Amino acid sequence: MKIYFLGTGTSQGIPVVGSNHSVCQSTDLKDKRLRVSVWVTWENNSIVIDCGPDFRQQMLTSGCLQLDAILFTHEHADHTAGLDDIRPFFFKQKSAIPVYAHQRVLESLSKRFDYIFDNENKYPGAPSVTTIEVKNNFPFSINDTEIIPINANHGSIQVFGYRIKDFTYLTDVKSIEKEEIEKIKGTKILVINALREEEHSTHFNLQDALNFIHLVQPESAYLTHISHLLGFHEEVQKKLPKNVFLAYDNLEITI
Ligand SMILES: [Zn+2]
Repeated sequence: MKIYFLGTGTSQGIPVVGSNHSVCQSTDLKDKRLRVSVWVTWENNSIVIDCGPDFRQQMLTSGCLQLDAILFTHEHADHTAGLDDIRPFFFKQKSAIPVYAHQRVLESLSKRFDYIFDNENKYPGAPSVTTIEVKNNFPFSINDTEIIPINANHGSIQVFGYRIKDFTYLTDVKSIEKEEIEKIKGTKILVINALREEEHSTHFNLQDALNFIHLVQPESAYLTHISHLLGFHEEVQKKLPKNVFLAYDNLEITI
């Protein structure tokens, strides 16, 4: 299985528009972070988790040639706003792209992208999707591979993370119940959000993420959904435990 980090930034991305913060002005490519998303491939499968506003650019940079499904974590724009840009995959593959999400998220997307979800009066240039509701405690399959939804909280809203074999991806988490952590145990690679050092009402800060990694005990952990306020990639990485890494855009790992 290959995991390719398409984007590792928080909702505004880094650099932040109009910012003269030193991290936003850094020339280190590892300090340039598009909105958060990951591309996962195994056997003949090629899926993305989330499809934010940088999706088009991410697909071009990563060289992704096939999109079999999108798994959504939640409905916020930094995770969903690129949905229209699945059009080239739809035209090429000539079949609707399966979209997996919580029912609430499917409803939210069908309002914002009504022309994509409306099967009756469809504009010919619009992409088509098929929708699959994700429910907590109901694992599902993509071509015989089991995907386990992991339920967590992003402040007052629910979010799903996903476990695919030995890989677990969670973002926008502020709290998570013990029984959900049990579902993650034994995972080799864990991706978890770490916004900044200071507390935040809807996101894990760095210490929250490190505490969570300590509970899960993966072989290695990668931090994502990073704010410029966390600091320079190179400096933050030096402070982390030996099996914890700051993810960066275009990082590829193999399990
Ligand atoms: Zn987010």
